[in-house]
Amino acid sequence: MSFDHPLPSALSPSRLQDFRACPRRFQYSAVERIPQPATYATTKGRIVHWILEQLYTLEPAARTAAAAAGFAEPAESAIVTESVRQDLDADDALLTRLRDEVRDIIDVYFTMEQPQHVNHVGVELRVNVELDGVPMLGILDRLDRHDDGALVIVDYKTGSLPNRNYDTQTFANAELYAALCQASMGELPRTIRLLYVAKGQAIERHVTEVVVRARAQAASDAWSRIERFHDEGAFPATPSANTCRFCAYADRCRASGVAVPVRPRTDGL
Ligand code: SF4
Repeated sequence: MSFDHPLPSALSPSRLQDFRACPRRFQYSAVERIPQPATYATTKGRIVHWILEQLYTLEPAARTAAAAAGFAEPAESAIVTESVRQDLDADDALLTRLRDEVRDIIDVYFTMEQPQHVNHVGVELRVNVELDGVPMLGILDRLDRHDDGALVIVDYKTGSLPNRNYDTQTFANAELYAALCQASMGELPRTIRLLYVAKGQAIERHVTEVVVRARAQAASDAWSRIERFHDEGAFPATPSANTCRFCAYADRCRASGVAVPVRPRTDGL
């Protein structure tokens, strides 16, 4: 038996992350395309990304903190739609808290970078390319060109910092973005810079050919498994306390007979 729903036309690093966490989650999100309700944390992240994207549409000298503050209201209008309000059960107190936290994050961001001096190649840059036979689509927060000519991938993070001994998974998505850049532009970014804008800290990693090759190979292996599960009509569920805790599909999954561990959700509220 195979699915009525076709496979996605391209695989994104975040959907690949879903697949790695749990193939059934990938089935729900990328094959059946069941929307995930907005959470407080994802809404805040989207607003911050929207403001920073708009900031970089301005000429360098105009990328000021005042200009960023001016984008806060249109960002909220664009992101906090009626359906998002319903998902969040948003009242005035929650919206006030959201605005305050977004403003604090943008303030912190300006302590980390001077946008007037950033030389960016693109923001919200769509990279659509075939990688080892896998149709891939990635959207980079920002790609910079440094003075020495090197490309740098910049990824904004609005959540918590990884713990001190952060593992390779912290950079996994960005390293795959580096592979996409190399495949589409013929140039390997030199550095990945993760900006934890809520915390005022950045962590960087040098990009190597070996790691990028490994990321591309892993994506190719995952795609082969995705095609096989799709042909077989079954994406297995791999429940665990960590993966199920933040899964938007827990109720649906439980209803299909999977023994989903019960843990209270904490989504930033
Ligand atoms: S609830 Fe757990 S097992 Fe079910 S789809 Fe989500 S992550 Fe997978």
